[in-house]
Amino acid sequence: MRQQQAHCVLCGRKQNEVPLLMEGMDGHVCNECVTQAYQVVQQELNPEKNKKSKNSKAPAPKFNLVKPIEMKKYIDQYVIGQFEAKKHLCVAVYNHYKRLMQHDTKTIQDDIQIEKSNIIMVGETGTGKTYMAKTIARMLEVPFCIADATVITEAGYVGEDVESILTRLLQAADYDVEKAEMGIVFIDEIDKIARKSDNPSITRDVSGEGVQQALLKLLEGAVVNCPPQGGRKHPDQKMIAVNTENILFICGGAFDGIKRHISKRLNTRPIGFSSDDTFLDMFEEENVMKFVTSQDLKSFGLIPELLGRLPVVTYLDPLDHETLLSILTEPKNAITKQYHKLFKMEGIDLEFEKPALEYIVSQAMEYKLGARGLRSICESIITDAMFELPSQTEIKEFKISLEYARQKFERTVFHQMKKAA
Ligand code: ADP
Repeated sequence: MRQQQAHCVLCGRKQNEVPLLMEGMDGHVCNECVTQAYQVVQQELNPEKNKKSKNSKAPAPKFNLVKPIEMKKYIDQYVIGQFEAKKHLCVAVYNHYKRLMQHDTKTIQDDIQIEKSNIIMVGETGTGKTYMAKTIARMLEVPFCIADATVITEAGYVGEDVESILTRLLQAADYDVEKAEMGIVFIDEIDKIARKSDNPSITRDVSGEGVQQALLKLLEGAVVNCPPQGGRKHPDQKMIAVNTENILFICGGAFDGIKRHISKRLNTRPIGFSSDDTFLDMFEEENVMKFVTSQDLKSFGLIPELLGRLPVVTYLDPLDHETLLSILTEPKNAITKQYHKLFKMEGIDLEFEKPALEYIVSQAMEYKLGARGLRSICESIITDAMFELPSQTEIKEFKISLEYARQKFERTVFHQMKKAA
């Protein structure tokens, strides 16, 4: 008679179907059944503990909530300028987490439901949208993740499913679902999924409207099953249910060309102007962006349903020379401060002379790199010194002058390419 292959007496799976099969007197049991059995035992033997966790509707707040003004003061240490955006962000974040606390404490007995204050930030690339969101999450000590709207597609298409965003948040929360459910998600490049025209399309549009529809599901607060390891590569993985009701979504985008939409809208006022350009010229100094509303985002191509879930609209100022100079030297972890520290560890006093700093900023402005470019320009100037000086123990101080900065930067491929163009 053929000997029967060892299998789990509870689920029937064979040795090759489970990671571990434990042998008993009359049969085997697999590791997964043991784990499940343990959970059942825990639930049965500790009904009080179990009841408590089931009944407490919202978990106790586990974030470090401070008042909006204090919140802004914290952000000010890292992010330069952007007063309006900071103010809107702080108020929205404060209200959002207050809403969570109300869920928990139930101090106010009425039917008023505070709605979520998801945010949309409009501003050129490199002006601090992501950085601001990241800084606020760090202050609150809540999980944070960044998702790129351009890689998300409708279910069934090549690309990432919206659920993958939550997978990233879960990973940031070390798979603590409760913690993830109070986190912050930053969705970058939201403008890139705008539909191409203001008219609703009849055909499917993979990169645009369909993705906006898919995002709606997350933004409006739903229980979403997400794959813990992301992607579709592991079809067998057990899904984790994440409730997005208390997750704060902050969306950011450059919205190139939105100024025209804003001026067009403003221009329809009774006083009127002869053309959009006249109006644009008048406000060029003042930054037309400050008048941005949901209506402009709608005419840019975001669907009204999505905008309805993003009630807070704010803008970021473009970074001028002065602001970039401050970014280089003032924030708590300013780039130049980081280099000082690195050199100090070698026993060297590093100094950036003012004209050299001005030069770095002017190059960043010229290449239209925003604050993001400051680091790469600094790197190209300072790398040789960081390579050579640690071996020259007699050197105790090092100055970066305008001549030195220029000489190093002009040798970079970056600069050479521009000259050739
Ligand atoms: P984006 O607006 O494209 O999201 P980021 O927030 O990613 O821009 O900014 C890129 C980098 O530039 C940040 O990591 C930060 O170091 C720096 N930065 C941008 N804006 C500011 C600012 N206002 N203050 C301080 N640093 C800034």
